[in-house]
Formats: sequence, structure tokens, C-alpha cells
Amino acid sequence: MSEKRVYLFGNGKAEGNATMRERLGGKGANLAEMNLIGVPVPPGFTITTDCCNEYYEVGQEKIISLLNDEVMAAVKNIETLMNSKFGDAQNPLLVSVRSGARASMPGMMDTILNLGLNDEVAEGMTKKTGNPHFVYDSYRRFVQMYGDVVLEMKPVNKEDRDPFEEIIEKVKERRGITLDKDMSVEELKDLVRLFKEAIKERTGKDFPDDPIEQLWGAVCAVFRSWMNERAILYRKMEGIPDEWGTAVSVMAMVFGNMGETSATGVCFSRDAGNGENLFNGEYLVNAQGEDVVAGIRTPQQITKIGSQRWAERAGVSEEERVANYPSMEETMPEIYKELDELQNKLEQHYHDMQDMEFTVQEGKLWFLQTRNGKRTGTAMVKIAIDLLHEGMIDEKTAIMRCEPQKLDELLHPVFDKKALMNAKVITQGLPASPGAACGQIVFHADDAKAWHEDGRKVVMVRVETSPEDLAGMAAAEGILTARGGMTSHAAVVARGMGKCCVSGAGGINVDYKSKTVEIDGVVYKEGEYISLNGSTGQVYAGEVPTKAAELSGDFKELMDLCNKYTKLLVRTNADTPHDARVAREFGAQGIGLTRTEHMFFEDKKIIAMREMILSENVEGREKALAKLLPYQKADFKGILEAMDGLPVNIRLLDPPLHEFVPHDNAGQEIMAKEMGVDITTIKHRVDSLAENNPMLGHRGCRLGITFPEITAMQTRAILGAACELKKEGKNPMPEIMVPLIGTYHELKQQKDIIYATAKQVFAEYGIEVEYEVGTMIEIPRAALTADLIAKEAQYFSFGTNDLTQMTFGYSRDDIASFLPVYLDKKILKVDPFQVLDQEGVGRLIKYAVKEGRDARPGLRCGICGEHGGEPSSVKFCAKIGMDYASCSPFRVPIARLAAAQAAIEE
Ligand code: ADP
Ligand code: MG
Ligand code: MG
Repeated sequence: MSEKRVYLFGNGKAEGNATMRERLGGKGANLAEMNLIGVPVPPGFTITTDCCNEYYEVGQEKIISLLNDEVMAAVKNIETLMNSKFGDAQNPLLVSVRSGARASMPGMMDTILNLGLNDEVAEGMTKKTGNPHFVYDSYRRFVQMYGDVVLEMKPVNKEDRDPFEEIIEKVKERRGITLDKDMSVEELKDLVRLFKEAIKERTGKDFPDDPIEQLWGAVCAVFRSWMNERAILYRKMEGIPDEWGTAVSVMAMVFGNMGETSATGVCFSRDAGNGENLFNGEYLVNAQGEDVVAGIRTPQQITKIGSQRWAERAGVSEEERVANYPSMEETMPEIYKELDELQNKLEQHYHDMQDMEFTVQEGKLWFLQTRNGKRTGTAMVKIAIDLLHEGMIDEKTAIMRCEPQKLDELLHPVFDKKALMNAKVITQGLPASPGAACGQIVFHADDAKAWHEDGRKVVMVRVETSPEDLAGMAAAEGILTARGGMTSHAAVVARGMGKCCVSGAGGINVDYKSKTVEIDGVVYKEGEYISLNGSTGQVYAGEVPTKAAELSGDFKELMDLCNKYTKLLVRTNADTPHDARVAREFGAQGIGLTRTEHMFFEDKKIIAMREMILSENVEGREKALAKLLPYQKADFKGILEAMDGLPVNIRLLDPPLHEFVPHDNAGQEIMAKEMGVDITTIKHRVDSLAENNPMLGHRGCRLGITFPEITAMQTRAILGAACELKKEGKNPMPEIMVPLIGTYHELKQQKDIIYATAKQVFAEYGIEVEYEVGTMIEIPRAALTADLIAKEAQYFSFGTNDLTQMTFGYSRDDIASFLPVYLDKKILKVDPFQVLDQEGVGRLIKYAVKEGRDARPGLRCGICGEHGGEPSSVKFCAKIGMDYASCSPFRVPIARLAAAQAAIEE
């Protein structure tokens, strides 16, 4: 390859720009762009993401030789712009070496600051700045970071302590101080020496003094960090491909740790929690970048209003606030003004909420990063609609800005207000990520995962979280931390996941050893219940009940916008009037699937059902079915009424009969009593229902064909209910769906029964109701003969659960034994039962839709099953011209958004 590997930026010029994130990573591309639009950024250069892949192909030595000339020239360029020299003892240049992929992966990969220091350079810098504290503070940070990241000094076991942290603790203890910044120059020097000794002891290698060697070590370590465990896990969760690689940005250091006129911070152009259009952020005086996010000291607010709100929540008086916790707006008004102007400029430029990092070095402001900020689902919707109203984006962009999956959070429960009045607030932290959570306390990520897998709800309680805790955070209902601000790791990651999080709850004392947390004198053990309100930061003892969320005006506006652009309708899967009503509120335009089998399980019905199964002849079955009829009719009436004026697609009995009978002795005894027969008769009948492959056995239309009286009874119940509603002035729109069709003969046979029964029902009621008869397409043979089946069917509904099962030949109930291996070996990208397999199953669907419509023009096609609420599957359905997708009530808004996006993408 002879192409360019290194892109320069600095002093208002740049070789890259914001459109180049694929090659420069998000961070590198935006550093270039900020230069181009006049935002102050320290000069530097970016090594492309391709080089990361190259590193894995050719190895360390080769990549260094390939990069050498370009990198050395780029370092020269920084030296010129900074008027200093890398490795020079009199006038040294220090740099940071930063990771940055195409998609933002906050905190998942590594970054090294203050690179270029050694004993000689440190001395020179001390002379130059007259600030030995600053120099040795930077030096010890550098040795620590370099040791962790490049020399792999990070603890191997999670239980083990970080060797560097241990040394720091010891040194601090000796002096009786708690804050890093209170260490003396001598102690900082001690740290440097002790760190280097620890490195030598552990790795057998000397710490490299040569800045060039340091630089290459760091660059390659950043490449390696692309493949660290947490980065791999994060990519898996976010669906980011391993092939993308990380870019490496190297830039001149600016120092927030040079004293009281220096600072470092993180800020957002809008509120990432609730979307409010309010500039906000946190900063620390005399500190370096990492300190704010690492949650080592609890940072201060940037804006006055932010500071006041914080004080109010923390119960701090205005007087005390001004004295002890003033905002940057109050203490550094000039810097604040510049910061505010620039954040505005960046938001205006990117047309989206920005998440920015900055450092103030002796009164001069520098930007170090900007990106489109991660946000909660609530903030996502509010910001999209606000930006639309502000004229910054158009309607289509507003729709595209929202991630369908994230709407989920808006639909999920919040604390019941009444229950809250009786709940006891035990402590208060920061409202880091909104929502309500309630669960059993655990302290370690591994435990959170294990307990969650056992089906328990847990709240993870930590002093602070680190990227190692990712899996535990994903498993927990919520996260509570003792340290760290609104921009701490825990807060940022939780918001990205839509997890409730309370951070910086200073009043809690976590003890990992005894697995307890002490709050206000009370000790809570692992396993005890606790509840968190991520929107207020309040923490409650015990379990506080939750209730459904209220849907805000912005949400409604977004949904209305979706309707304007979408072509695909969204129906719901609902078996009860309650679900039907909920889905209707979420905008469902009918029911795509009503399963009748669930209705049989309530007390009286299951008895009649079992009587039917036990019967040995038609008369017996008809007698039992006659008992079931009124129950079924009442159930259908309720659902048809709830969906009045909209279509309701009802599936005839589908599961194998053995699902309705008890398999254990006790159950069979009860059944024998209910039926008035002896237990051996029951056992005999139950045994006779056993099948080797029940999912391929006597089920679906095969039941209706062998027992036509079942089809007749269900038709009678459906149409009887419809007739009664019509007489009451309602507008029922029933559709009767025959499941598991493989040949059109099956459908024709069932249709004859339905038509004949309908005639009788209409005669009895003296009224007629319009209805349709269609089929599920869920057996590959049905898809392949769609033209023949379409002649008999008024509509197709693709049952993609069974269709996936039978097309792959994977039993859905047994896939867990090999799926993880398949995913790991990349034989499958995702679980095909969750995300529709477009390549195979999708091809079959596309074929069936086309063949079906060729045979019967305008044939209505829809999808039901898990995939109907999964955004990429919904988009596929829209793209191949289906009429509707059907999903569970809570996924209706997600499907509506995905459907609108599909229409816009076309
Ligand atoms: P992450 O992706 O984990 O945020 P970054 O590369 O952004 O890692 O860097 C970590 C921290 O170090 C950030 O707070 C950043 O602002 C700070 N930082 C990075 N480069 C510099 C620099 N050249 N001068 C001062 N601070 C820096
Ligand atoms: Mg960063
Ligand atoms: Mg099925």
C-alpha cells in the first residue's frame, strides 16, 4: 500500500475533515473539522484505521517501518507549531496518544497522556515552568498510564488491586492525605520511582526513557486496545464490526493541572438525560482529563443554573454553594463565555447535541474532542423534535435521528407516585441516567450477570464503575455508585444503554469484602432490595412499585411524523382486550395475530378443553366443544370490540394437544377427578399424544383437518361474536387465519368448513358480517407454492418463528446449545429468531410475496412473530412491499419508527 497513512491538523488547518470518520475515526475526523471551523485545538495528527488492520496483519515491527517517515514528519510539524521539541530537555514537547474508532466507544479503548517525559525532560520542564508539582504530577500519571496500557501492568484478576493504586495509597497513608493533588513534589517523585520499580519487577523490563520508543509503544498499544475484552464486548452489544479498527490521534498536550487557573472538563450542548436545551457540564480545577470521567474527585458544575440545581438536590444552601461549590460561570467568567460560545458554534455546525472535552491551561481554553452526544431515549426524542422546531433539521432528519430500539425506554415504567410518598429516601446521588429501577443489591459485575441469569433483578452498587463492569451493568436493572459525576463512566455508559443510574452518592460506604453497603448508619447486605430513581438521584430502601410511563407530547409528535412518511402499517399481536387497547394507544392499526390457545387455559375452559381431548369420538368432542363455545365467543367479542373498526386476525387452534394436558401424576389425578374417569385412562390418553417431534407433529391445520369440529366451533365463536357486535352498532372486522399450511388442499378443506359454518351462523343471527379467510405462511413448502395457495387465501401472514425454524432446520427450543458457538465462530452474525435472516428466510418471503401477488393481485401480506418488532426486520418487510408488520403492544412504536425510516431510506 502506498496510500497516505497519516493526516495532519493544527493551527486552523487540517488534511482531514468530519466526513472522514471511517479512516480517521470519529475523534480524529472531528479534531480535523474543529481546526477547519476555528475552534482552538492543540496541533497533532491522526494515523488511519486501516493501519490498525494492517498492524494485525503485518505485526508491530513492520507497521512501525511503514509508518516511520510520515509519523516523524508529522511530529516535526507539531514541534514547529508548538515551538518546542519532542524529547528535548530544555524545551520539551509532550503529546497524548489517543484511540478513536468510527463509532464512538467511550472509555473502551486506551489513551496515554504526557508522553515524552523522562527524568531529564522532567528536570528541564521544571526549570522552564518553575512548577515542579505540575511536572512530577504529569510524570507520575504518564508512567502509570504507560505501565497500564503499554506494559500491561493492569491486574490480571479482578480481585487483585492495581499495583500503582496500591503504591499511591501507601504514599498517601504515610502522609495522612486523601487527595492526589495534596501530594508533595517529593512524594510525586517517589511515585515515579516506585512505579518504575514495580514495572521492572513485574515485567523484567526497564521503563523506556526514549520518547520515540515511548511513542511507538503507545501507538501499537492503542491498536491492541481495539481487541481488548471490553472493547470486543461493547462492539458486540452495539453491533459494531470488528473490521473497522481504531485510528490513533497524537496531539500536543495542553495541561489542566498547572495550577488554579488551569482546569479540565466535559460538557454537553443539551441535557443528555432529559433532552432539555440547556448547556451543562462538569469540570475540575488543577486536574487532567481523565480525572473528571474517572470519578476520582467529584467535579463541579460549569453553569450557574446547573450548580444551583445540584445544590438544591444535595440540600446545600445558596450561601454554602457559592462559598464551596461555585460554578465555572461564576469563578472563571471569561473562559466560561468563550466555552459557551464555542459549544453553541459546534452544535450549530453539527446540527446535533455535542458532547465535548476541554482543558484550560493557565487561562487559555482548548477543545480536545467533540462528538454527537449519547443520550437517553427521552432525550433522543426531545432533542430531535426541538431541533426540528428550531429549524436546524428537517422532518426526515428528525425521524432518522431516532433509534427505534431506544423508544423502549420511554414506554417503560416509572415509580408509582403514590408508592413513592410512602417510600423512604435513604440517600441522594446524581440523576445520572433516568428511569426507575428496583432490585437486589450486588457488588460485582460477575454476580450481577450470574444473578440476572438466574432470573433475579439486581441493582449493582459500586464505589465507581470501570469499563470492566460493562457486562454487569447490562445485566442490572440499575447502577448506584458512590463516586463520579454526571459524566463519569457509569453515567455515560448507563445512558447509552438506557439503564437507570444514580452516581456520586457520597453518603454510601461500599465494602466489597463483606459485600455490604452502609448508608446513614444502616448496613445493607448483598441480596437486600433497593430502589433507584435515575431521574432525581434518590435512593430508596426496599422495593418501590413502578407504573407505566406517560407518553409525552414530543413522543406523539414523532409518531405523527412517522405516519406522514410510512407506507408499512403496524398491527399488534394481542390475545386479550387489554393488550389490544394498550396497542391501540401506541398506534396499532389492527391486530396481526390473536392466538386462541392462551384463552383455553383459564379454569373452566381448560376443563372443557381436556374433555374434548379425552373424547374418543365426534359426539364426545362436539359436546365438549359446545361448552367451550360461549367462552371463546366472549373472548373474541372483547377483542373485536377493543379493536372496533380495525381488522383483527384470529388464528385457529395451533399447538399440539399434549400442551393442554398435565404430564405429572398429581395433575393427572386432578384431571381424572374433573373428568370422572380413572387415572389410567388419562395416562393412556396423555401417552398416546406424545410425539417425537411435536413441532412437526399433529398441530396447526392438521388438528382442524382431523377434528373439523374444532374449526367449526372456532368459526362459530368468531363470527357469532362479530354478529352480536354488529347488532350493537359496532364495526367488527374479523379475519380467520388457518395455521401451518403446507399444501393448498389443506387450506381449501378448512375454508370449506369455515364458509359452511359462516352460512349457518349468519342465518341464525339474521345478519351478515364481512370477514376474510387467509393463511399463515410458515412452512417452506407453502412459500414455494405461494401461487397455488394464494388462489385459496385472501391474505398471507408470514409466521417467521416457524418459518425460520423450518428453513434453517434449527429447533427454536434447542438452539441455545449451539448458538453461542455459531456466533463466536461467526457462522451466524445474530440469532435468526431475533433478527430476520434476510439472506435465506427473507429470500423465501420475498419470493412468496411476489408469487402470491402474481396469482392474486393486491394480495395483502403481513408478518407476525418476534421479528415484527425488530427494527432491521421491519425495514426489510417495508422494503419488499409488505402491507403490515405485527408485533407485541410495547414494540408498536418501535416498529412504526422503523417503518417510517425504511420509507425515508428509499
Ligand atoms: P476517551 O476516548 O477515553 O475519552 P481520550 O482520548 O478522549 O479518551 O482522552 C482521555 C482524556 O484525556 C480526555 O479527558 C481528554 O480530554 C484528555 N486528553 C487527551 N489528549 C489530551 C491532550 N493533548 N491534552 C490534554 N488532555 C488531553
Ligand atoms: Mg474522550
Ligand atoms: Mg407457527
